[in-house]
Amino acid sequence: MTHQVPLFINGAFVQSSSTEKLPVTNPANQELLGEVPFATHDEVEIAIVAAKQAFMIWKDVPVSERARLMMRYCYLLKEHHDELGELLARDTGKTFEDAKGEVWRGIEVVEQAANAPSSMMGETVENVADGIDTYSYIQPIGVYAGITPFNFPAMIPLWMYPLAIACGNTFVLKPSEQDPLTPVRLAELFLEAGAPKGLLNIVHGGPQQVDQLLQHPDIKGVSFVGSTRVGEHIYTTGTAAGKRVQCMLGAKNHMVIMPDADRNSTLNALVGASVGAAGQRCMAISVAVFVGDPKVWISELADRMAVVRPGAWDDAGAAYGPIISKAARERVLDLIARGKEEGATCLLDGSDVVVDGLPDGNWVGPTLFADVTTDMSIYKEEIFGPVLCCIGVETLDEAIELINKLEVGNGTSIFTQSGGAARKYQHEILVGQVGINVPIPVPLPMFSFTGWRGSFRGDVHAYGKQAVRFYTETKTITAKWTHGDSTGKRPNMSINLR
Ligand code: NAD
Repeated sequence: MTHQVPLFINGAFVQSSSTEKLPVTNPANQELLGEVPFATHDEVEIAIVAAKQAFMIWKDVPVSERARLMMRYCYLLKEHHDELGELLARDTGKTFEDAKGEVWRGIEVVEQAANAPSSMMGETVENVADGIDTYSYIQPIGVYAGITPFNFPAMIPLWMYPLAIACGNTFVLKPSEQDPLTPVRLAELFLEAGAPKGLLNIVHGGPQQVDQLLQHPDIKGVSFVGSTRVGEHIYTTGTAAGKRVQCMLGAKNHMVIMPDADRNSTLNALVGASVGAAGQRCMAISVAVFVGDPKVWISELADRMAVVRPGAWDDAGAAYGPIISKAARERVLDLIARGKEEGATCLLDGSDVVVDGLPDGNWVGPTLFADVTTDMSIYKEEIFGPVLCCIGVETLDEAIELINKLEVGNGTSIFTQSGGAARKYQHEILVGQVGINVPIPVPLPMFSFTGWRGSFRGDVHAYGKQAVRFYTETKTITAKWTHGDSTGKRPNMSINLR
């Protein structure tokens, strides 16, 4: 019988009564892994009620106890690291190495959540006026919702609920319906770590379930990661309903290659960052901007990309896996075709790639375009496939101008041996995450994930100290304790503290 992916409500894994379901498949061979139900209106409501009731108790659990739960969770996640990697690899098609890497990056955020007692420290100033002290506390707010994309089914949920819960909130997660198996396993381990019921709840679904969360008065804030189109809707709807909303959105990340860049590490970085995970990373490099003559680089780049091949998760020789769905693959192939029609030079075309023994996989081979111009579809759209576009410019200033004109600003990198060029670039570029000789500069969680401009909607970013602010409210207390007799003191008729 087909495995029915359960909902996770009030500490129990329950079967949805919904008749609306989607198959969950391994994108390397279309093997049916299960069916994901789209939770009914009542089931979403019950999940929110469970989270609200749990909040009334959890908010008063000492912060050190909340942190200990995260420590135990962290320990369990590490113990199950390889098992989670395998499940994630089957569900997404990622290679085992990449899947384990993703799980690890999620664990690092849980480590930071276990640091909640320090992260939640307020501020104090003694004697702000005569005998008066002011201090602030950081307090949780209530039930948060998280809506996550397909491309990091472990890491991105782990960006959200561990920290929100460590701060004293409770959570309803709506993971991607395309690969829901890993989030459910993460919830099982959370329960095993000793999480009280109702802290974390998972409902599956699509737009309808998301809209119910966005409209519900008991959801106080929403963390969203996904495409720009959906994120704009979530930001507008969520904020109109009076909620805090942070949305991490789509991207088009450029890597600038200076003429003095170290040849081998630059070419390796271009291949890994554009084709890795089949280009399905929001921080993937999709445009190479060569300062000077691109020809110096491009033929060797094509040679190096040509030997990289996709394959199944457990194929040790595969560099990356399939595209998540047949529809997403069709979209990538369509963009490749448009690139050719619109006049770019296709030096490497992965449209017809085959993988031995896996004829039904959603494969796209490494694809390289030269002579790309900014009016082409392959330049303007986020392709989310293993496709790299090359552009040549005369100067670093021109490269900066090109990138600063984009609507999005998630990530970028510069490869150079010149400290001066790197310093100028990091200072002038209007992109929130900059790598210097590092192609995919996703910050570790002592920092935050700081996409800019069209890659972000909201005020404070994901994980790190900024997310502690997102998941809490600051209460500032001004206190006066008199010692001795106050007889004879007169009313204070001014706004000044006395
Ligand atoms: P998506 O926007 O299609 O889906 C994201 C989530 O939104 C899913 O849970 C989905 O069920 C839900 N959703 C889909 N349509 C909806 C609608 N009409 N109304 C309400 N909810 C809806 O994104 P995806 O294809 O899963 O992920 C890829 C996208 O995510 C890319 O654009 C990528 O750049 C972006 N992304 C951004 C970051 C970042 O940090 N900036 C990280 C990872 C992925």
